[in-house]
Parts: sequence; structure tokens; C-alpha cells
Amino acid sequence: INGAEAPTVQLNDGHKMPVVALGTGRGTAPGSESVEEVRRAVLDAISVGYRHIDTAAIYNDEAQVGAGVGDAIAKGLVKREDLFITTKLWNDKHAKEAVVPALRESLRKLNLDYVDLYLIHFPTATKADGSPDSIDYLDTWRGMEEARQLGLVRSIGVSNFNSTQLQRVYDSSQVKPAVNQFEVNPTMTQEPLVKLCKKLNVAVMAYSPFGFLVSRKNADAPPPKADDPELVKMAAKYGKTTSQIVLRYLIERGLTPIPKSTNKERIAQNIDLFDFQLTEDEVAIISKFNKNVRVIHPVGMKDYPNYPFVTEEPSV
Ligand code: NDP
Repeated sequence: INGAEAPTVQLNDGHKMPVVALGTGRGTAPGSESVEEVRRAVLDAISVGYRHIDTAAIYNDEAQVGAGVGDAIAKGLVKREDLFITTKLWNDKHAKEAVVPALRESLRKLNLDYVDLYLIHFPTATKADGSPDSIDYLDTWRGMEEARQLGLVRSIGVSNFNSTQLQRVYDSSQVKPAVNQFEVNPTMTQEPLVKLCKKLNVAVMAYSPFGFLVSRKNADAPPPKADDPELVKMAAKYGKTTSQIVLRYLIERGLTPIPKSTNKERIAQNIDLFDFQLTEDEVAIISKFNKNVRVIHPVGMKDYPNYPFVTEEPSV
């Protein structure tokens, strides 16, 4: 019982993306968790069947992700071509001519010749000091297309783009975004944006998949928590944990969850999702928790050009 047979989704450019990714972003408290843990977490994940690892330049762990991947290959667990590695372009590298050098730097740290997926991490551009910049993300997208042309990346996409921004890139690009990665969980169900992505055939990666289920600083966080009676009932019915119920909920909706864990048992648990299915009614029950409340809201950038989380998503 592991994810060795983890299914894939077909991207709009013909590549296949495994539907559970190991998250390696470790939140906003750098130093609270040793980056060295990431190397072991990546190896543990690949050992139990993960084939998709999610990192980003801003996580400062691409070297550890690369080392974990290297360990797994050296042990003969997988070959490079069996893996799907995602990384992301940070906000201060949005100038068209900055994209390829930024990706080359990520590849150097990862010790890879190419990544499978490169995402614009956030639509908002900043200068190196974090102050706002006015670069249009369409210019950034041209840099992404060039990186793909050079063979440094197979698929390109975006992250944290709202409906308007996604549609704008889609309408004015040669290579369409293959993926939009954004927050989806029981309190942030994102029906309108998911619906638009389905219409455009843009695959969705769901970050912070547990929402407020797991321990978060916010004591006033909305339900569900891990001991929620509805989730506990489903967990008992299927012999799973409530965490697994929430991940399976995202899979039933056709999304690719990105559970982060550095704990070996939880890493294994988070991909042990393919021997049961939720009913439509159960999916609807979980969707009813929606409050449009985000775990991740980088309010420090809220007045910057192209900040994405300003309005509710329009219905499509
Ligand atoms: P998650 O919803 O993955 O929650 C992570 C927390 O859940 C950790 O504290 C982890 O602890 C705990 N946990 C993991 N598995 C279980 C389990 N089975 N039972 C109980 N607790 C569990 O949130 P994140 O915000 O970390 O998001 C996941 C990933 O998504 C990130 O790592 C990153 O890769 C990506 N991301 C992308 C963003 C973007 O802007 N594109 C923004 C935010 C995240 P432990 O490690 O101890 O198990």
C-alpha cells in the first residue's frame, strides 16, 4: 500500500504529471526546521512511491531536494525520467531576460539538466529588496516560453494567478499555461477558479491542502479540524485518517494536492490514497466547509501591482 502506482494527469502540452506532490516549502519560519530534513524527506517520499516533488527558489531548499533525488537515483529506486520535479521563479526575477538565468541557477542547485515544471510563483513583481516593481507578468511569460524552447523545462505554468490573470496569459500566449498552483482545501474550496482551469484545460496543483485541519497558529481558524465529526465518520468508514480524507477529497475533484511533511510516517500516509474513493455526497459535505478563508495571504504585498487576492473569483 503505497503510491508506487500513483496516477498521473495529462497536461495540455502532452506531458503527464503525478497527482500527489511532496511539498517542501516549510512555511514562514526559516530555521524552525532544518533544511537538511528536506533531503531525507525527499528520499523517504520517493521510497514510498512519490514521483512528484514541489520546490521553489524562495524555499532555499533546491540543493537539498536535488541531493534527495540524487540519493534515490544512486540507490536505484528510480531514474531521472521517472520523476517529475517542479520549481518556481521568484518575484524579483520577473524581467523577461531574468527568467532563463534564474532557472539555470535553480537547475544548478538541483543538480539537474531540466525540470519538469517551472511556475511563475506569484503574479506580483518585486525588486530585489522586496519593494514593488511594475513588470507585466506577460513579459515574464515570454521568458518562461524561452526557457521551454531551450529545453530547460518541459512544462510551464503559473501559481497564485486569479481568474483574470490566468485568462489574460492564456489569451495572449503561444504556449498555454499547463498548470495553475493555488490554495485549495476545505475552507478555501475555490470552485470558480477550479472551474475556469477545467474549462481551459489547465491542471490545478492544490497547495496548503490540509487547510486549518493540522495545527496552525490561528486559534480562531474555521473548521474542520482533525477531530471534526463529519471527517472522523468518513475516516472510520474507509479505515483512513482525516488527513487522508481531505487529500482524497482534492483528488476526487481532479486536483493534484501538495502535502508537506518531513515525518516519515506522515509522508507515507499522504500518498496512501488510491485504495478508496469518496462518494459525491461526501465530496459535497466537505465542500460545505468553504469560508473563502486563506491559510496563505501575503498581505505585505497587497498594495502592489498585480496582487492577486483582491476580489472574490467571479463565477464562470
Ligand atoms: P500543508 O497543508 O501541506 O500542511 C503542512 C503541515 O501539515 C505540516 O505542519 C505537517 O507537519 C503537517 N502534516 C503533514 N501531513 C500530515 C498528516 N498526515 N497528518 C497530520 N499533519 C500532517 O501546508 P503547506 O502550506 O506546507 O503547503 C504544502 C506545500 O504546498 C508547501 O510545502 C509548498 O511546497 C506548497 N506551497 C506553495 C505555495 C505557493 O505560493 N505556490 C504556498 C504555500 C505552499 P509534519 O511535516 O510534521 O508532518
